[in-house]
Amino acid sequence: MESFKSVSLEKCTDYDEEKVYEALSASISRLGGISRFIKPGMRVALKPNLLLPQNPASCATTHPAVVAAAGRLVLEAGGEPVVVESPGGLYNKVVLKTLYKLCGIADACEKHGISLNYDTTVTRVTADCLGRTRSFNVLKPLVEADFIINISKMKTHGMMVFTGAVKNMFGSIAGAEKASYHMNMPDYRAFATNLIDICETVAPGLSIMDAIMAMEGNGPSAGTPRKIGALLVSESPYALDKAAHDIINLDTDDSYVLAEALERGINLKYEALGYPVSEFFCGDFVIPFRISSGKIKHNLLNSRFLTRYKSKPVVNNGICVGCGICRDNCPAQVIRMVDGRPHFDYTGCIRCYCCQELCPEHAIGIQDPLLIKLLSRKGTGK
Ligand code: SF4
Ligand code: SF4
Repeated sequence: MESFKSVSLEKCTDYDEEKVYEALSASISRLGGISRFIKPGMRVALKPNLLLPQNPASCATTHPAVVAAAGRLVLEAGGEPVVVESPGGLYNKVVLKTLYKLCGIADACEKHGISLNYDTTVTRVTADCLGRTRSFNVLKPLVEADFIINISKMKTHGMMVFTGAVKNMFGSIAGAEKASYHMNMPDYRAFATNLIDICETVAPGLSIMDAIMAMEGNGPSAGTPRKIGALLVSESPYALDKAAHDIINLDTDDSYVLAEALERGINLKYEALGYPVSEFFCGDFVIPFRISSGKIKHNLLNSRFLTRYKSKPVVNNGICVGCGICRDNCPAQVIRMVDGRPHFDYTGCIRCYCCQELCPEHAIGIQDPLLIKLLSRKGTGK
């Protein structure tokens, strides 16, 4: 019989540093306390979601108070915490310095003696995934860590519908190399299984989700902040994501990563410790509708053949500042700058929405075709 994984849920209503620390400490104590996981002298990588350099108030990134609270607990257990993350696009020391500063990580962590990683090298890691041998270039500080704490943010996602604990481990792949994964796996289910392979290979020992303020709607970077008031912790990133899905009223079938996890026989059953999911339930959380596995048969409509029926990126020329970041990070290289504004070749566009995700001005939206509009749950409360 399948066992239930524990997911510890704790209330936390704002990002006051001490409140967050107390809430995280209480949440982890239900799983046996931090000392159950961290032993003195361990090198502990803290892996937040810092997908782009942005003020934490936008809710696109893991809040620095949550990262600092995790680091403080590791220090108390005698471990050596270091923040390790790779955003999309360029990945070098200058980029990391800006990222840590603008995301509030530098200020929050340095005052507690929590280190920030600047080693941008990678290590080839071979893993057995579903009986297939696969290998990945993984950030070296993650490979060398004795323990990894995965600190995700609860958000919607233009391509995957939801991004949480499992998807957060895609940041283990260095910067622009992520684009090659999108190009090689334009099929959303194939991409989801790749995310699971990476998560299984890097294998975080503990996963935390910052759901104090989540992001709904046009995530993962241009959505709307939504208060949930919860911190979630689990040893299983899958059970953690399932609890998060239940909070935001998202069916597993409508979310690529968990649908694929179920297909692979990964156990999503969980028991909630502390507070029940109902305490945080948010039935009208705005979720982007994508042609997913549950509502419509994936194999029929999620094919490249029907790409033109998928939602497409569109630029708002009034907001765009012409920086070219979208062009530079388009895996399919189908964006040209014309008169200082991006133009999309939709015939080659693989609908990965990296351009929307990485636009610092939130100038790129996703336009739904009529088919999606007809099938969309938007405005229905589910
Ligand atoms: S990344 Fe955004 S602001 Fe920069 S060129 Fe593209 S659309 Fe314009
Ligand atoms: S135009 Fe945008 S959605 Fe299309 S392939 Fe490029 S980055 Fe992906």
